[in-house]
Amino acid sequence: MDRIRADLPVEGEPFEIVYEDLWRDIAPYTMHNIHPRHWGWVNGSGVPVAVLGDMLATGLNANCALFNQMPNHVEIQVVNWLTEMLGMPSGSGGLLVSGGSMANLNALHAARCAKAGYDVRKLGTGHGPRLTVYTSDETHSSVQKGLEMMGLGSDSLVVIPTDENFRLDVAAAARRIAEDRAAGLRPIAIVANAGTVNTGAVDPLNAIADLCEAEDLWMHIDGAFGALAWLDPRQRERLAGMPRADSIACDGHKWLYQPYSLGCLLVKNPELLRNAFELTPSYLTRTPGSVADAPLPYGQYGIELSRPFRALKLWMSLRVHGVNAFSQAIARNIDQAGYLARKVDEHPDLERVAPVELNVVCFRYSGAEAKRLNDINIDLLAELQKRGVATPSLTFIKGAAAIRVAITNHRSRTEDFDMLVDASAAIGAELAG
Ligand SMILES: *Cc1c(COP(=O)(O)O)cnc(C)c1O
Repeated sequence: MDRIRADLPVEGEPFEIVYEDLWRDIAPYTMHNIHPRHWGWVNGSGVPVAVLGDMLATGLNANCALFNQMPNHVEIQVVNWLTEMLGMPSGSGGLLVSGGSMANLNALHAARCAKAGYDVRKLGTGHGPRLTVYTSDETHSSVQKGLEMMGLGSDSLVVIPTDENFRLDVAAAARRIAEDRAAGLRPIAIVANAGTVNTGAVDPLNAIADLCEAEDLWMHIDGAFGALAWLDPRQRERLAGMPRADSIACDGHKWLYQPYSLGCLLVKNPELLRNAFELTPSYLTRTPGSVADAPLPYGQYGIELSRPFRALKLWMSLRVHGVNAFSQAIARNIDQAGYLARKVDEHPDLERVAPVELNVVCFRYSGAEAKRLNDINIDLLAELQKRGVATPSLTFIKGAAAIRVAITNHRSRTEDFDMLVDASAAIGAELAG
């Protein structure tokens, strides 16, 4: 840190020196999520073709705001491919955004414009009854953050407890919606999970879609990583109902192994995005036949106006590797989660603390008295990282400190998980004394 804190450079210095400093002072101290044993939070690993794509997109300096020509066509193509990859109905569309948080925020604003029952864009949030959104207690914090930013307040997020498998209790949600309507509130949406961040749980999507239809609610799916499990045909049953959603958030920078950043908001009816975001001042007038004659004015479909050419890296990756390569990599990550879960289950001093649905395994060292286990596992997580064994992350599952392994890494091999299990047991024993 001391090396980076420096006085403002008034005069320039040779590029070689700056470049050397990068490799000496910065590159060795990243989160290393390009390493085969990085499984923390949900970080993508990054494929080389996409790295090149990003470099070229930056070099072209394309601004995909409103009027770009071929770059916007590339984004349209990539969004179409994504809707096809996720089994969404034809006519679906959407746009690329910075990540899952932004996709959730854009979707929630579109949902409220569609379902509030009054002109939210004109009248704001003070008008009419409180708008409410329903979701499980395992939903990502970005959903609450989004509602807070929208001025709805966190009280508008009605959090429904999950069942023993960390899935939304749909009957409880239905009861709560009825109660809230009776109390004069206006339910507008359900946010369902396709892959919760803690355990990878998938909510009962078909039942949620039925409830949304019956109650005239917007169905948004936070599938930041899990939606892409659709590419593994074995997961289609678990994810059944996903194509019925009004909107899906999914991140290329997670389970499509793209470098940061690449999020995506996909919607069944793109006009509803336009209704929520279109605004055309005089200085953004479209002039047919000129440079300002765009195939799709993306700035009218979301919050961002100036936007990087995010589509290029994924367009190049899909063309060079083919979608099958991605499907296979995702299926392999899911198999690796199953393998790790079995190794943990077989080990006398390790235990799993949540079911494994997709690519997330939560476990802990369990070879000591119950009251010491949280402290031991918090230390164990730190030791695994400090000793360079692996980078899982920490979470708490029903109060139990857990080593959380989220596998969105195309570089991981079977041996990497053997190493994690062996080291966790050994270091856990060491810490337990
Ligand atoms: C990562 C994640 C998010 C947030 O996405 P960002 O790209 O980090 O903004 C939201 N929901 C889930 C389930 C996630 O895993």
